[in-house]
Amino acid sequence: MRLRNIPRADGVIDAHRAVIKKPEEQRGQWAQVFGNEKPIQIEIGMGKGQFILNMAKAHPEINFIGIERYSSVLLRALEKYDTEEFENLENIRFICMDAREIENVFAPAEVDKIFLNFSDPWPKDRHAKRRLTSPDFMKVYDQVLAKDGCVEFKTDNQDLFTYSLEAIPEAGWKIEAFTRDLHHSDMAEGNVMTEYETKFSAMGNPICKLIASR
Ligand code: SAM
Repeated sequence: MRLRNIPRADGVIDAHRAVIKKPEEQRGQWAQVFGNEKPIQIEIGMGKGQFILNMAKAHPEINFIGIERYSSVLLRALEKYDTEEFENLENIRFICMDAREIENVFAPAEVDKIFLNFSDPWPKDRHAKRRLTSPDFMKVYDQVLAKDGCVEFKTDNQDLFTYSLEAIPEAGWKIEAFTRDLHHSDMAEGNVMTEYETKFSAMGNPICKLIASR
């Protein structure tokens, strides 16, 4: 998702209290950012934030960080956060960055879970390294994820899902569970819908999900 450039986005992001402007400076100190030792879960490519905001609301016992590389998209998540429904949430922060760099932002084992939701499919073979479930990205996640941590991935894109079921074990990870029809499976309990999930499941597309650990 890349929205039209929005000139005021950078100003809003810079001024917003929930955005961490120099996230590298918090490496190893995220518990201090939140002021508590609760587990930290991140969503990479959160888009307009529907999933992570609802997760933060449903799980006050967890700290959430939404990562999005485009300021125009992050702006939409901040606008949602600022509504009455979410504005008093203390257990969520946002970072505008490319996820390729998360090793510089989180210390080893600082993250307890990584969510990848409806990641861009990059269908051309020559762009495979850009897929967020590629072995290159799994190596990056390995650097920041706690020993018992996991990656949860959802998509409606069957080709990307098939690719991920092969690429993740290639990177030395285990597929703990998967389904190609999440909403009619026993993995559906507690499921929080993302924006893309709402849209594509309404069109009749089955939703795929996998959970991977080391
Ligand atoms: N997760 C949301 C959902 O399910 O509704 C949005 C899905 S959208 C297709 C993918 C989002 O991931 C886009 O907003 C894109 O900018 C972001 N993204 C893709 N690659 C990224 C990366 N390397 N680092 C940070 N964000 C990324």
